[in-house]
Amino acid sequence: MKETTPRLEARATEFSAGLLVVRKTDRGFEWLLLQKPNGRWEFPKGKVEPGEVPLDAAIREAQEEAGLSDLHVIEGFMHTIRYTYRDRWRRPPEVVTVDKTVVFYLAETHETTLRPSWEHRLARWMTTDEVWQALGYEDLRDLFRQAMAYLQQIQYGGVPCPKRPPKESPR
Ligand code: ATP
Repeated sequence: MKETTPRLEARATEFSAGLLVVRKTDRGFEWLLLQKPNGRWEFPKGKVEPGEVPLDAAIREAQEEAGLSDLHVIEGFMHTIRYTYRDRWRRPPEVVTVDKTVVFYLAETHETTLRPSWEHRLARWMTTDEVWQALGYEDLRDLFRQAMAYLQQIQYGGVPCPKRPPKESPR
């Protein structure tokens, strides 16, 4: 009879934070989406470091994953998604099931240039219609629905680009 190695089942938790980044253009709102190596589109997100405030982590991830620096948080929006996945990177026979929580916030930018990190294939500004076509996971579609409803509820029209301060202030 063939011997089988017993599977080592384990459970882990993961906590990430993400940011929906919007910019106002003459085509309406555009949203920052990143494409993973497997082709899926997502909003910037990543693990919250020990001792880090989730909102700070969300901003840091958008900076690292898309090269943005000019981010203005739109106060009052927060939405949490939860999912479970099998961690494929553990060495067999270890099988780890990860219960993941991701908290998302909302921010506006006036920047256009995107510089995706090695973690993603592409970074792109998408119109609202394009976002609906790109998003596959139902939890991200629900998140996007909530963010759209929030912007409508607060009648958010976008903050005009701040004027650059003069290089030398007059005395
Ligand atoms: P992070 O960006 O938080 O560092 P990660 O890139 O390490 O995360 P995830 O994006 O959470 O990892 O992907 C891990 C697995 O979870 C994927 O292989 C996919 O199967 C699944 N997954 C990713 N996003 C979602 C989602 N929004 N809903 C459900 N399952 C998801």
